[in-house]
Amino acid sequence: MATIFSRIIAGEIPSYKVAESDRFFAFLDINPLAKGHTLVVPKQETDYLFDLDDDLLAGMVLFSKKVAAAIRAVIPCSRVGMMVIGLEVPHAHIHLVPIQKEGDMSLSNPRVKLTKEEFAEIAERIRNKVE
Ligand code: AMP
Repeated sequence: MATIFSRIIAGEIPSYKVAESDRFFAFLDINPLAKGHTLVVPKQETDYLFDLDDDLLAGMVLFSKKVAAAIRAVIPCSRVGMMVIGLEVPHAHIHLVPIQKEGDMSLSNPRVKLTKEEFAEIAERIRNKVE
């Protein structure tokens, strides 16, 4: 059965897309640690990030770099942190989180509540900055 992220990529489940290439897809985390918290996933369905072949893994980091620059251009933050956990959804993904301090990266932190309109507006602003 397809993972929830494959169903998002296929458009079967809605998402707030911020970037897409032939190999990768980036969209806002629905339960964000901060405004602009984004997930980057490979279109190839693989559970564990480090099972990706070298070229795909390297490409995913470079794609994340572009998305992170766009997030940073839109969301006031000290920097964009990058994190991999992967215990919840069995489809490799990189978390990109705008942060001010180290503690902002913890998935144990309370999540930010956003309206659909706020999600859509943030996604559009980031999307417009992705080069
Ligand atoms: P983890 O697998 O622990 O790295 O966390 C999975 C992340 O996916 C969590 O931060 C969830 O909020 C996020 N997530 C789960 N389902 C969706 C969805 N349908 N759209 C966007 N983000 C999601």
